Amino acid sequence: MSTKRRVIIVAIDGPAGSGKTTLAEGLAERLGFVRVDTGAIYRAVALLALRNGIDLEDEESLTRLLDGLDLSFGMEQGVNKVLLAGDDVTDEIRDPKVSDAASKVSALPKVRAGLLGLQRKLALDCGAPGAILEGRDIGTVVFPEADFKFFVTASEDERARRRYEELKAKGLSVTRDSVAREQASRDERDISRTVSPLERADDAVVIDSTNKPPSEVVDELQNIVTSAGISARPR
Ligand code: C5P
Repeated sequence: MSTKRRVIIVAIDGPAGSGKTTLAEGLAERLGFVRVDTGAIYRAVALLALRNGIDLEDEESLTRLLDGLDLSFGMEQGVNKVLLAGDDVTDEIRDPKVSDAASKVSALPKVRAGLLGLQRKLALDCGAPGAILEGRDIGTVVFPEADFKFFVTASEDERARRRYEELKAKGLSVTRDSVAREQASRDERDISRTVSPLERADDAVVIDSTNKPPSEVVDELQNIVTSAGISARPR
């Protein structure tokens, strides 16, 4: 008889810059859950495609690329790391060129289908009592039966400001305007694609993070989870 415990699934979806990562990290720490950054998976595939000179619309070649995808996640001095074939690509996948490429490859149905199993496995085999997945289609497609679903939003201005600050802090030479434009076109592509577009699941709780300190929003999410009888077990 299997003694494997059921993993509690928390879905956090929303557009770029809405605050998903900060909330997922905060909630994961408070509850002792694992965070699964599904955007990092699409970004890693995009980086691999760029490195191999693959056309970002060539669905067959991109799908073949997934067969050899050697992606792993780790933690180093409290920082989440993304490793592609053992190579630390944590910073490289945040480059605006990779963001743009990620939203192109993620619009392809076979690429999305090919990455479904990996996302589910990372959550279900996480070894923690629960997994918090952040993305665009977690509550609608990856885990439509998730225990908790949140859809995070923030004003367009605020989302562009956050992304600009993030890239500037990394030393990238970007302007506020270029960041806003890049973000708007990525959102548009994510919303309008035919498969698994960015959309709120009917049963998701909408959280507006504009003008709210992150800790206050994490409190809000934590209250919803703990009120349902889930106890916090910080690791
Ligand atoms: O969340 P992040 O901005 O890192 O995601 C990068 C891109 O990956 C998004 O713009 C989106 O196109 C794609 N993505 C997706 N589905 C997910 C997560 C990310 O299509 N679940």
